[in-house]
Amino acid sequence: MTDLNHTHDPAARSWVASANAPGTDFPLQNLPLGVFSVGDAAPRIGIAIGHQVLDLSAVLASDLIANQNLSPQARAALQACTGQSLNAVMALGPAASQALRHTVFDWLHAQAPAAQQAALKPCLLDQDAVRMHLPAQVGDYTDFYTSIYHATNVGKLFRPDNPLLPNYRWVPIGYHGRASSLQVSGTAFHRPRGQVMPAGATQPELQASQRLDYELELGVFVGRGNAVGASITLDQALHHVFGVCLLNDWSARDVQAWEYQPLGPFLAKNFATTISAWVVTLEALAPYRVALQRPPEDADRPDLPYLHSLENRQHGAYDIRLQVGLRSAAMRQAGLDVHWVCHTSYRHAYWTIAQLVAHHTVNGCNLQPGDLLGTGTLSGPTPQEAGALLELTQGGKLPLTLPSGEARTFLQDGDEVVMRAYCEAPGRVRLGLGECVAQVLPAR
Ligand code: MN
Repeated sequence: MTDLNHTHDPAARSWVASANAPGTDFPLQNLPLGVFSVGDAAPRIGIAIGHQVLDLSAVLASDLIANQNLSPQARAALQACTGQSLNAVMALGPAASQALRHTVFDWLHAQAPAAQQAALKPCLLDQDAVRMHLPAQVGDYTDFYTSIYHATNVGKLFRPDNPLLPNYRWVPIGYHGRASSLQVSGTAFHRPRGQVMPAGATQPELQASQRLDYELELGVFVGRGNAVGASITLDQALHHVFGVCLLNDWSARDVQAWEYQPLGPFLAKNFATTISAWVVTLEALAPYRVALQRPPEDADRPDLPYLHSLENRQHGAYDIRLQVGLRSAAMRQAGLDVHWVCHTSYRHAYWTIAQLVAHHTVNGCNLQPGDLLGTGTLSGPTPQEAGALLELTQGGKLPLTLPSGEARTFLQDGDEVVMRAYCEAPGRVRLGLGECVAQVLPAR
């Protein structure tokens, strides 16, 4: 999975002009997959290229495929892209994903034969003209807790004497989340109601959450699964991962504080989780792999053998730059742009994607194609890198000021939270994961 090839060549250009624009999230080297629809038509699978979507069903129906000498892997991957979700192509594993990527790279390359370009042009749609859907049918959703900075900051608020529990440095902590309320970017949701214990009260109340928060996370889509009872080793783990998206794990902190002991998050988390629409494959992210870098006091601490390899230590992390912004109703009305409140990178995570997969299956738990693993809130080492309002405002004690003059501790009705992610490295093109955005509606 570390191997770089001609599809990572930073000099490669596409005949789709918008794919060559500086700052685009979707250059030729990215080619993320997603599910879209036009009007009332059924959802279909597409690949983002610049500001366009390549409609794979339209390509399959065209003469191009009949006339092409495709490898069996590429043909199987394309056939798996005729459904309404990515599950079938995820299930085929990394060789098929790679064949698909390399085929589409050749088709969209600036040097593709003119006849090929002419055959593909009718299969391109403007991204503004399509509606995006969840990319996969997610059977199970697990949320981890992989930022030691987040775990420590939150631990200090909930347990000042004992912020980081002793298991943290040994176990990639996680819990089983709720797949049914996953929503694609752009879907507004209602503020949840829940049971809370007001300060000084003697009994709890049911009320609209007053401490609604976001969590900046990445979502990891499982590709090929494993049989129940059969673990996935660390060395094999990335062969079972299809790709990555942005994920916002909306959290009702007042509900969470009252309900979380002893079994962990429940109704504070399961009312809505928003993900970005495009899934960026691990192959596209290969140039941005970096060494696992833990805090200095943990740098030499060994992991248990099933979570340790030299490869994982040297190349297991990804430098994916992450941003969170806020835009209130008043800011929208005044025409003000998103106010960015957090800039960090996924490289600060304590546990790698491979370690999450190896740990999740070490007991024989089976992962299935389309399962989603959340990384947990991705806070970095400095206060400006906090991935949730709970940390940024120190539990609501230090309000933020928005460009409209409004103060925020937690989210208000009408607020939009915008997350962005992108990769850049010397000698590499910039590519992005697109946006993960949603607006908070009043409680029902
Ligand atoms: Mn979370």
